[in-house]
Amino acid sequence: LEQVNPHISEQFQEAIYFPELSNIRNPRVLQSLIRYLKQHPNVEFFEHTPVKKLIQQGDVIQALQTEDGRKHTADHFVITSGAWSHYWNSQLQLEIPVEPVQGQMLLFKTPAHWLPTMCMNRVMYLIPRMDGHIVCGSSMA
Ligand SMILES: Cc1cc2nc3c(=O)[nH]c(=O)nc-3n(C[C@H](O)[C@H](O)[C@H](O)COP(=O)(O)OP(=O)(O)OC[C@H]3O[C@@H](n4cnc5c(N)ncnc54)[C@H](O)[C@@H]3O)c2cc1C
Repeated sequence: LEQVNPHISEQFQEAIYFPELSNIRNPRVLQSLIRYLKQHPNVEFFEHTPVKKLIQQGDVIQALQTEDGRKHTADHFVITSGAWSHYWNSQLQLEIPVEPVQGQMLLFKTPAHWLPTMCMNRVMYLIPRMDGHIVCGSSMA
């Protein structure tokens, strides 16, 4: 353990090392995805446009209505509203099994390459970025 990561406390006697495990900076991934989608000829992008209503015929969603009153029809809809997905339960008369869970996150600045590996246990994780920032997070399901 000391060879792989000298910052790990001596109180830990065992760990599993995944040398192939890596991480990405999610805000940057999203920014590049958005940039790609915005220049794609088949994509129309509506930002800051909350969806208020799903218009159904039988079991099929035929259109959605946004807060500004506009309607958008499509053959298929994908609901990706994350922790807010329970909003659709009453409209769709479904129980969407997604709910928010408690989480905390801090960002520390250390010298570059100070922490050589990601560290995770059952309740928290440390993720070193290349510039020395360390994301310290904890989510409890
Ligand atoms: C502080 C923090 C740190 C995290 N760190 C990590 C991490 O390091 N690694 C990891 O894997 N996961 C992490 N997570 C969890 C991860 O962010 C979520 O699991 C992931 O974002 C869920 O993606 P999603 O697309 O399902 O939902 P979201 O990313 O929550 O996206 C849902 C989107 O739907 C939009 N929306 C909701 N309702 C409507 C509506 N009526 N009309 C229009 N839009 C609507 C919301 O505005 C939002 O943009 C973290 C979460 C938090 C809060």
